[in-house]
Amino acid sequence: MPLMNHADFLRPRPDEPVLVHAASGPVLPIVCDSPHSGTAYPADFGHCLPMELLRRGEDTHVAALWDQWPAHGATLIEATFPRTYIDPNRAETDLDPEQIDGAWPGPLSPGIKTRQGLGLIWQRISRNGVATPLYERRRSVAQIEHRIAGYWRPYHAALAQAIDASVQRFGRVWHLNLHSMPNDVYQRLGRTDAPPLADFVLGDRDGTSCAPEFIRLIGDTLAGFGYSVAYNEPYKGVELIGRIGRPQQGRHSLQIEIRRPVYMDEDTREPNAGFEPLRAHLRELMAVVAAHVRQSIAN
Ligand SMILES: [Zn+2]
Repeated sequence: MPLMNHADFLRPRPDEPVLVHAASGPVLPIVCDSPHSGTAYPADFGHCLPMELLRRGEDTHVAALWDQWPAHGATLIEATFPRTYIDPNRAETDLDPEQIDGAWPGPLSPGIKTRQGLGLIWQRISRNGVATPLYERRRSVAQIEHRIAGYWRPYHAALAQAIDASVQRFGRVWHLNLHSMPNDVYQRLGRTDAPPLADFVLGDRDGTSCAPEFIRLIGDTLAGFGYSVAYNEPYKGVELIGRIGRPQQGRHSLQIEIRRPVYMDEDTREPNAGFEPLRAHLRELMAVVAAHVRQSIAN
């Protein structure tokens, strides 16, 4: 697959649910994925919200911020669909029977995210502590199955294929799950006691999904650029890194959250003056990570 240029990352692709950007240089066992930066809103979405509110669910521009990964030997995977349509960072069974019109044909295991209205199929969007429903009526079994089969599964299949290819070839893999977070995270979580939100939140599910020196390398590099960095607070990582991270087996997985106002205007969704400086720092970070992985596989 040819390397895509910067403009390709910003173009909605309703025709393909997932884009795989293969390494353009010598291949390293690094797989990165941006599950929430998609902006191609499917015509059958059926939401009842204004777009400016709905788009608050997006990790807008995250794939573009990290678009140099392939030049550093990594595979970069991005969803083109919005996470409010169906969320790749949730289990396929994270659904509430109450949100479905009809009897679901398989097992369901609604978790805390579903109780918050933020499960596999989101039910509400929050702004300034006010939650607004996404839909006027429940989604049908067929509508939800269409989203799982047409979007969720292709995304997971592409990611699994890239992870497996790295493990087969190198015996190991380093996976980075890339996100951004709204400035009002603590308010959304109902927390009033919280410290200021850090510029970067790194999550390894409390030290279980990757080697400690790997997450520290990334955190220390970012702190060296002048950003504030927090670990597992308030985000530890959810479905994707929980599935992939098995550090004892050489499978390292971590989540990186960037505070959105560092690079974009949260109301217009447009990049702000911080976008290019951040992108330049991330390019340096990618080189640091690539060097670390190159050295690890040489030993
Ligand atoms: Zn996200």
